[in-house]
Formats: sequence, C-alpha cells, structure tokens
Amino acid sequence: MVKTIPSLGTGRPDYSANINNIIRGRIIKDYQPLYYEKMKILALTNEPGAVSAYPWVSNTLLSPGATASLVDTETGLTEMLIPRGYDIKITNIYFSSTQPIQKYSYVDGELIGTAHNVDFGFLQSQELGISFILPSDPYFQKSHVVSVKVKNLGDEGSRTTVIFQFIMRRVGSPEITTKDIRCKNCGYIKKNVPLSLTRWKCDKCGTLNKYYYLPFGDNYG
Ligand SMILES: [Zn+2]
Repeated sequence: MVKTIPSLGTGRPDYSANINNIIRGRIIKDYQPLYYEKMKILALTNEPGAVSAYPWVSNTLLSPGATASLVDTETGLTEMLIPRGYDIKITNIYFSSTQPIQKYSYVDGELIGTAHNVDFGFLQSQELGISFILPSDPYFQKSHVVSVKVKNLGDEGSRTTVIFQFIMRRVGSPEITTKDIRCKNCGYIKKNVPLSLTRWKCDKCGTLNKYYYLPFGDNYG
C-alpha cells in the first residue's frame, strides 16, 4: 500500500530576495563580541608605493626569502600582548599574495603551527576557534605574547595582505582600558595610552599613526 504524505502550506518559501539580510545577520552574530570579549586583529600589507598611516601597511614588496611580522592593529606592535586572565581564539584568516608564502604562529616565542599558501587570495572563516592560550595555561594564570610571521617562499617580491582575526576573552579578570603604541616610522613606543586612541602624532618624529579600536562587546550597542 502506498501512502502519500499530504503537503502542508502553499509552495516553498522563497528566501532569495532576502539573501543579503540573512548573510549579513549571521556574520554580525558570529563576529560580534559578547561583553567580556573583544576582537583583536593582526595584519600585514605589502604594497609598493602605498600611502597609509596604519602601521601594518608597508610601501615595499615583501622580498624573496624575507620574513615579516604581522602587526597588532590596535598598537602597531609586532607582538600581541595577552594579559593574565585572558584567552584568545582565532576566528578568521584572510590572505592574498602574489608569491607563495608560509605563515608561522608563535605563543611566547615558541612556534605552534605553520600554514602554506600559494599565490592567490583566500578567506578562511569556517569553524575556526582554536585557543592559543588554553592548551598551555588552562587557568590563564600568566600573561602571554602571540605573534604571527610570514615568509616569502617565492623568487620575486610579493604584494601581500595577511589578516588574522581573533576573539580575546577575559576570564574573571578586569577589562583592559590602556595600551602601548608603536610608531610605524621610528619605532618609538608610547606607553599607557587609552585603548580607544586611534590617531597619534609620534612624540619623537612627528609621523601620524592610525590604529584600530576594537572595544569590548557591551560598547557595540
Ligand atoms: Zn616616530
């Protein structure tokens, strides 16, 4: 005996007209930090002739065989400082390069992993949530430094952009309100400026530097 299951409703819902809303809503939900979280972004761009006040933008190619550090977009420093009582998880990696490159991740100066990219652009954002601190310090009892470097494995200079995006989460620790910033021109470091500072003319050389401000979730509204 054949039974036919009666269909309910009238036709298939057509979501295609709302596809932008659906995707936009999902991405904001995935990336928006909770009140005890903030984003951190490490970046490096090599583009000949580029004019930019952002410390991670270099106006030269990444030379063959050369290694360069990604820069903390809030501070201009090549090491991302993770205070005691904080964890950090990677959520996205974006890269684009005109030569094959190798990426190296470090915690407290120790290599924890590498990845190889051939010469094209790629956004990797799916199911990333790897903690950089938890495996070695599960109670977050110490401060740590996280850094990422890229090496040009090709025969020619590379136009390159590499972005590592993280969620930093406080675990029973106070909210960070200050940062140390580094001048992209002379390397002078100014200590204890407000976390929200996004423009600074260097006290030593007068160069204008710009930085990101990535607030904790409750400041997003
Ligand atoms: Zn300077």
